[in-house]
Amino acid sequence: MTDDVAASSARLAPPPYVGPDADQTYAARSAGDGRPLHAAALKFFWGPMDCGKSTMALQMNYNHARQGRGGLVTTRIDRSLGPQVTTRIGLAHEAIEVTDDLDLRALVRGRRAEGLRVDYLICDEACFYTVQHVEQMAELVDDYDVDVFAFGLATDFRSGLFPAAQRLFELADEVTRIQVEVLCWCGREGLLNARVVDGVVVREGRQVVIGDTVVSADVRYQVLCRRHFRTGNLGPRG
Ligand SMILES: [Zn+2]
Repeated sequence: MTDDVAASSARLAPPPYVGPDADQTYAARSAGDGRPLHAAALKFFWGPMDCGKSTMALQMNYNHARQGRGGLVTTRIDRSLGPQVTTRIGLAHEAIEVTDDLDLRALVRGRRAEGLRVDYLICDEACFYTVQHVEQMAELVDDYDVDVFAFGLATDFRSGLFPAAQRLFELADEVTRIQVEVLCWCGREGLLNARVVDGVVVREGRQVVIGDTVVSADVRYQVLCRRHFRTGNLGPRG
């Protein structure tokens, strides 16, 4: 064996499995050729509003559940303002509301202690989670063998990254821009989420303001292309 081959097989050797089911060794979980049948991963799917993120999240939950896997759906500040994931095309699924002090690891441990399978997490609206939640997601993948599929916006109304989205870009095994096309009023691809207050694009303010909860002003969001985000042009019907 040449040094090169030895070096590359060393790199390919699976790390020891040290998750909570440590009696279930890597060998037992592999196809017999040393490769694990499944290695958990942290995946971040991002896109602007209305691009179908929540729909994709629920579809992914359905696909995995159908394979007999057990999972949890979490969300934060869903547009329904209740503990569920709702989609603009009318799907809904009950979900666990993620609060600042919710520990995702404790959530998984608790469910497993009740004898429930937790093979994956679907984390909707992940841009609104804390950076600590994203660290917990990475730990769930690495130490608990839980797949974490996070869905959310990348940027806020100022076109800057949400802190949790930034951490997801930094830590995720895979980052995917959702390809469902949302168009700006001009027909170009929608990229950025503008905050519109009393009919005008605003550039300053709190990072998270939900239209339904603000009574003092008419706040809404509109997906724009970069050009019209920059100029603040909401189009003929804006
Ligand atoms: Zn445009």
